[in-house]
Amino acid sequence: HNHFCNKVFVNRSLAMEKIKCFGFDMDYTLAVYKSPEYESLGFDLTVERLVSIGYPQELLGFVYDPTFPTRGLVFDTMYGNLLKVDAYGNILVCVHGFNFLRGPDTRELYPNKFIQRDDTERFYILNTLFNLPETYLLACLVDFFSNCDRYSSCEKGFKDGDLFMSFKSMFQDVRDAVDWVHFKGTLKKKTVENLEKYVVKDAKLPLLLSRMNEVAKVFLATNSDYKYTDKIMTYLFDFPHGPKHGTSHRPWQSYFDLILVDARKPLFFGEGTVLRQVDTTTGRLKIGTYTGPLQHGIVYSGGSSDIVCDLLGAKGKDIVYIGDHIFGDILKSKKRQGWRTFLVIPELAQELHVWTDKSCKCCHISVKSAIGLHLDSSSNERPDISAIQRRVKVDTLNHTLAFRTFQLYLILLDVKRLNFYLSFLFCFMNSICDTPSRNVFPVNKLVMVAYKSCKCNSMVINSPPRVLSIDNINRLLE
Ligand SMILES: [Mg+2]
Repeated sequence: HNHFCNKVFVNRSLAMEKIKCFGFDMDYTLAVYKSPEYESLGFDLTVERLVSIGYPQELLGFVYDPTFPTRGLVFDTMYGNLLKVDAYGNILVCVHGFNFLRGPDTRELYPNKFIQRDDTERFYILNTLFNLPETYLLACLVDFFSNCDRYSSCEKGFKDGDLFMSFKSMFQDVRDAVDWVHFKGTLKKKTVENLEKYVVKDAKLPLLLSRMNEVAKVFLATNSDYKYTDKIMTYLFDFPHGPKHGTSHRPWQSYFDLILVDARKPLFFGEGTVLRQVDTTTGRLKIGTYTGPLQHGIVYSGGSSDIVCDLLGAKGKDIVYIGDHIFGDILKSKKRQGWRTFLVIPELAQELHVWTDKSCKCCHISVKSAIGLHLDSSSNERPDISAIQRRVKVDTLNHTLAFRTFQLYLILLDVKRLNFYLSFLFCFMNSICDTPSRNVFPVNKLVMVAYKSCKCNSMVINSPPRVLSIDNINRLLE
């Protein structure tokens, strides 16, 4: 179990020898920010900004608590609640300030304890590690205004005499303050002034990138600007040695075939922006659009994923892009460009502990066999994954049997057995999805859950084959 954090998990097989390019995001991917120091800094600066635009002085007493927020929570801008929802919109946890709502209270606000996650006007998903400080800040603010005598609580906000502050406007103020801190405030300045405090440095990074560069092209595509990127990357590669001990130091730029800053992902994976060249001595952009060939050492600003493909002479499927933003780095590059993707999830090590400790045996066997593989980046051999594949087949068979029988009962409309099977599947799904039990569950939804988890539960090489088609299921249920 101790090795989870050193492992790479895949949910489909990928022939690494066919990959021609490795792309990297920078923030929270190559440059890992130290937790909770970096989040605390972002938190304090955001609070200072809120106070400077008129929020009460008492806010300056808030202290960031890293144990409270987790990535991926949803803020309901109507009722001011932080929600933890599963992949389908079912509410697992609902908290107002620091007050955790009980089931019946949650149900009163949210019928069926369900939200329409795609209502992005109302629900904001706190997707990235950059969102952790504001997640906690939103809870602090709701708690503060709820308990402060000067304010009275209403359904959709707070009243202070004639003034009404909705949760929505409070949320917008926080969002604006966070953006201000990132783009206009002193967050970047304070980070680069004290890099040792805020950024993790790994002596093996030059070795990893040089090994990748032996077999493929390597590029950097970051949303950060050149000046900041240069400071962070210089620090990350600041060792007396090069890739190996005994080799001489090389500037960070030499590890990349293409460097692209101000990428504006996710826009970058669609229409993109104008490609310009950066004057690396001044950090300023050169006017006009860059039209020349790819040259080592040129730093580009803007552009798009199509331009990256052109410059590198690669197609989407030749590229693995490594990033931490599930939407901006992964979803968009995969869906719009067919890039192979690699998501950095620092939380996964902890998640897997929870998962393997709690869930039923048949679900975590694949994970256990997967962590048995010992590889490092110097290996050019194809790993022997036959044992894992056999293991996955057994797991898949178990799943398939469950679903086939379920399907059969549906066809036979054997209600009694179907009920029995539904409850069985229910437990089974809970163990996979790691969601607490819910008593009432519409059949349609259960089938969706069953179908979806069947499609995507496997953490290891080779997903289980598709055993049910959702159209068939819907037809059966109509
Ligand atoms: Mg990032």
